[in-house]
Amino acid sequence: MASVTLKNVCKTYISKKNEEVKAVRDLNLEVRDGEFMCLLGPSGCGKSSSMRMIVGLEETTSGDIFIGNRKVNELSPRDRNVAMSFETYALYTHLTVRENILFPLRAKKIPEIEQMNRLEQVVNMLEIGDLLDRGPSQLSGGQQQRISLARALIREPEVFLLDEPLSHLDVTLRTSTRAQIKHLHDELKTTFIYVTHDQLEAISLADRIAVMNFAVLQQVGTREELLDYPINKFVADFIGEPAINFFECTLIEDNGTSTLKSNKGTLEFKVPQKWNSRLVAHGSKHYTLGIRPHDIHVEKSPDTTAITGVVDVFEFLGEENHVTAQIDGDVLTVVVSPYQFYTVGEKVNFYVPNGRVHIFDTETGECVSTAYKLEDKE
Ligand code: ADP
Ligand code: MG
Repeated sequence: MASVTLKNVCKTYISKKNEEVKAVRDLNLEVRDGEFMCLLGPSGCGKSSSMRMIVGLEETTSGDIFIGNRKVNELSPRDRNVAMSFETYALYTHLTVRENILFPLRAKKIPEIEQMNRLEQVVNMLEIGDLLDRGPSQLSGGQQQRISLARALIREPEVFLLDEPLSHLDVTLRTSTRAQIKHLHDELKTTFIYVTHDQLEAISLADRIAVMNFAVLQQVGTREELLDYPINKFVADFIGEPAINFFECTLIEDNGTSTLKSNKGTLEFKVPQKWNSRLVAHGSKHYTLGIRPHDIHVEKSPDTTAITGVVDVFEFLGEENHVTAQIDGDVLTVVVSPYQFYTVGEKVNFYVPNGRVHIFDTETGECVSTAYKLEDKE
């Protein structure tokens, strides 16, 4: 087991047209020993490039990578003790499953006895005993994925990298394989770095999540930290299901109190006193109010702001129900309990806890209220 540290890591490719593609910009990230870290972000944001630099398939343009205390920039992939399982399984079609799994050990000339011991271990862990004599073409997608995991695991790496390992699986297999990966980590306690563009996957697997966008690391935190203290609008929007509600507003100051007034509709939100001076000091007039669908209630309680809406869509989903309501020009999505039902056209009062909203500078996207809360936390 080992930690992985990236210091000021940059990757710039030169495209065929001889233009620079900045795939990773100044990435600083510390993955703790034994941690399950998810690298999350939209397609093209630099996740795979980061992984390829860690495993050694790609050189860094600048910056340093450490595995434990060892700087590995100059080491070849085989000397880094990092294994990677890819989005495409890349199994050798002319070899059996057994030969595929043993391949990395045979290449390293590990003694036969040791090979068999390790094979037995990964076979038991991944429950693939009955597949060993088949060829890769005789396997389903999920089985191929498990063999690919087995081939990476048998090397007993200090760090295990998984790049979108579930993206080619259908929904049912994705859920069961995801559970198996989580179980593997619990058992091995090896450092895992797992790439995905799917926030639900990240949320269900990771100890901490590193969110990237446009080659830049945005924020690293636990699921709760990212949900409750997003650093900017991008993170607030990317994490959370259903997505956070945004209202573009203008700040109206009046005698020491401030109100955010929706630019589109009639929604008004009185800024809590503790954020007032911060917003005034920030100096902007244009803010985006963010309210998470799970934070809104239909029962009245103290220190809330009431919003009246007309139900536009009601979705019965079983574990929770979703209501989409029109608020005079704005749209609000609310999560309600499975026992609450609404009909389209119905008028409903919603209550927003004043301290649970997020206020963003509309122009820069920076979260102004979260910054305040973080200072508050210390
Ligand atoms: P992700 O895994 O997040 O989808 P990648 O790391 O694969 O992102 O790619 C990041 C950016 O770098 C993209 O714009 C991609 O087109 C570009 N890129 C990746 N590999 C190469 C390459 N070998 N040559 C040129 N550009 C590349
Ligand atoms: Mg990728």
